[in-house]
Amino acid sequence: PGTLYIVATPIGNLEDITLRALRILKEVDLIAAEDTRHSRKLLTHFGISKPLTSYFDHNKELKGDQILDRLREGQSVALITDAGTPCISDPGYQLVRDAVAEGIAVVPIPGACAAVTALSASGLPTDYFSFAGFLPNKQGKRRERLQTLANERAVLIFYESPKRLLATLEDMLETLGDREVVVARELTKMYEEFLRGRLSVLVEDVRGREVRGEVAILVSPAQEPEADDGPGMEELLQKYLGSGE
Ligand code: SAM
Repeated sequence: PGTLYIVATPIGNLEDITLRALRILKEVDLIAAEDTRHSRKLLTHFGISKPLTSYFDHNKELKGDQILDRLREGQSVALITDAGTPCISDPGYQLVRDAVAEGIAVVPIPGACAAVTALSASGLPTDYFSFAGFLPNKQGKRRERLQTLANERAVLIFYESPKRLLATLEDMLETLGDREVVVARELTKMYEEFLRGRLSVLVEDVRGREVRGEVAILVSPAQEPEADDGPGMEELLQKYLGSGE
């Protein structure tokens, strides 16, 4: 069989495509894209003209079968999405799973991913993080999800639409407490910006202005509860030596 390449594309700045991604996109027999019109523009920019087929959430069963057929015939296929790494809050997971189950080689071509890009410059601890993708749109469900994450000791990373940013920050303040947060906006683009501060401060900040463009939200972990190490030195001295008065 052929090989399925999972190819990351830029999240804004076209210079972030890799040399390897360009070579693979030139070499494959077929490119499967989330939005063929969007991806055609990217490919044209790099002088690549290849047969394109669509693969997105609502046609993934039918299209997945067709793509697997091509792979079974020995053709090579590259999967790309509108931005960043396929399968990360983007279509692709099912196709990869099916290919793996059939013993078809799946080769990742790494590149931009908004979550890791945001984390790397956030100034929050990077040793332990939890990617939570998009929260539910409805407030009740969103708060429920946040509640399940409240005791996580990791930095929490979310994707969000700018029009829900304020409501989501308010719900975070309510459910998680006044934690340190970073909103990474328009990464790699002209108006790239990092909003950093306590949730209570950012809620006020975002309330007072219109936030446009793409955003990722990073929330610092829940604080460790104060370790109970038993009585401190002060207390022991007091107990055994008296107050000295
Ligand atoms: N697969 C992509 C990746 O690897 O990051 C994510 C796709 S998801 C459908 C789109 C969301 O990712 C946006 O709503 C936003 O939360 C985040 N995102 C994508 N590009 C971004 C950027 N340039 N700056 C900030 N966030 C971005």
